[in-house]
Amino acid sequence: MVGSGPNGLAAALTLARAGLSVTVLEAADEIGGGTRTSEAMLPGLLHDHCSAIHPIAVGSPFFNEFGLDRYGLQWRWTDIDCVHPLDDGSAGVLYRSVGDTAAALGRDGSRWRALFGRPSAHFDALSEDIMGPLLRVPSHPLALARFGAPTVLPAAVLARTFRTEAARALFGGVAAHAFRPLHLPMTSAIGLGILTAGHRHGWAVAAGGSRAITDAMTAHLADLGGKIEVGVRVRSVSELPAADVTMFDLSPEAVAEILGDRLPRRVSRAYRSFRRGPGAFKVDFAVEGGVPWTNPDAGRAGTVHLAGPFSEIAATERDIAAGRMPERPFVLVGQQYLADPQRSVGNTHPVWSYAHVPNGYTGDATEAIVTQIERFAPGFRDRIVGYTVRTTIAMAGYNTNYLGGDIMTGAKDIRQLTFGPRITLSPYSTGAAGMYICSAATPPGPGAHGMCGYHAAHTALTELDR
Ligand SMILES: Cc1cc2nc3c(=O)[nH]c(=O)nc-3n(C[C@H](O)[C@H](O)[C@H](O)COP(=O)(O)OP(=O)(O)OC[C@H]3O[C@@H](n4cnc5c(N)ncnc54)[C@H](O)[C@@H]3O)c2cc1C
Repeated sequence: MVGSGPNGLAAALTLARAGLSVTVLEAADEIGGGTRTSEAMLPGLLHDHCSAIHPIAVGSPFFNEFGLDRYGLQWRWTDIDCVHPLDDGSAGVLYRSVGDTAAALGRDGSRWRALFGRPSAHFDALSEDIMGPLLRVPSHPLALARFGAPTVLPAAVLARTFRTEAARALFGGVAAHAFRPLHLPMTSAIGLGILTAGHRHGWAVAAGGSRAITDAMTAHLADLGGKIEVGVRVRSVSELPAADVTMFDLSPEAVAEILGDRLPRRVSRAYRSFRRGPGAFKVDFAVEGGVPWTNPDAGRAGTVHLAGPFSEIAATERDIAAGRMPERPFVLVGQQYLADPQRSVGNTHPVWSYAHVPNGYTGDATEAIVTQIERFAPGFRDRIVGYTVRTTIAMAGYNTNYLGGDIMTGAKDIRQLTFGPRITLSPYSTGAAGMYICSAATPPGPGAHGMCGYHAAHTALTELDR
């Protein structure tokens, strides 16, 4: 196993449980990929490096099948999942319950209920179909068809079906997780997936920080006899030990580089022309007394989306896709400590944030992030007692899967969202015997849910049995 992100560890666990002897090789000095947490500013103040909020992990078939709660993984929830404040002090407010969200949305309540009521009630069945490759026979075709119909729409079209700015902005902020211009087809898909999963399982954080996800998987792997070596960057296939199965938790470009001419030419071409999405510029803050939000619900939410009305979200996403840095970027703020107070030190709280920026953006977006938070929380600046920055370039240095700050491991355009790195019935196979790719570049895509690794390992086990 090359790489120890959540997908790498999920694949390692699935292979080890099937009786294979597994070794994980990790380039960094610490395992976990996008699920790491550390004390960057003050002893005891816990900052998630990447993944923070997990609406999709809680119901992930992988997490549930492997019973990671037995290895210490515990989920925590805030009262309110997400708030999208507007300039007049009002906000779109997302609760775990569809009914509570609909009630808070007033005139748009019935529309919200119509969109999310039934799919979220059937989410557990639906997730068998949407949390894997789409090119296969669905287990629940009716539920999938009902959920799937609106996912093909541009988010801008779906947003127009709401009458209030609060509902349009709330939906648009979640849809913008796709890092795509929202007038394009299928830009509703990721937002609808996150919202539907969230209405079923809530926007959970891991107690003790996202590293608890890594810790639980590592402890389980150790029980199954798996080994982990850190500080080992694999650069060429010649450095790899002989194995029945070699699995890469890496980007397609990196796999093409490592496997060289072991890859069939058409696969190599597809991997090398893999398209990248825009970047994330991350700032972690230590904040005395928390963020002084104008909207009181924002002070109870695990996630706050900052971009103002839908039209502004759409404009910023169009800009970053075209390589222009917007003056006021879309900023996501995480207040995980509200659900998990052990991450704070006294009255000093860890506040996680990142802005959507162009891929490879070389400027400093720190001031733009602070200004955007100040817009909805005047006085925030005075409460900052420390901060650390990760630029798009540093993001790629931290983890080469996030080239140019692309934290999604690839643009989620229609082709890559639907098929992964290449169009094939077997998205995890590289075409080289016994070699597989299992990173977030493969279906079902980004997030700390482990499902790419789980499916890739099952593909490998099936081919091993033949
Ligand atoms: C700022 C940020 C915020 C995010 N927020 C969320 C969120 O709130 N919720 C959510 O679900 N997801 C979130 N994500 C996305 C999530 O973290 C990723 O989708 C997930 O970590 C992908 O997992 P993975 O296993 O595919 O790969 P990764 O987690 O990217 O891990 C890949 C691993 O491979 C290692 N590696 C790379 N090259 C080599 C090599 N040559 N040899 C050996 N090892 C190598 C890397 O060091 C890394 O450890 C966020 C990501 C970022 C960066």
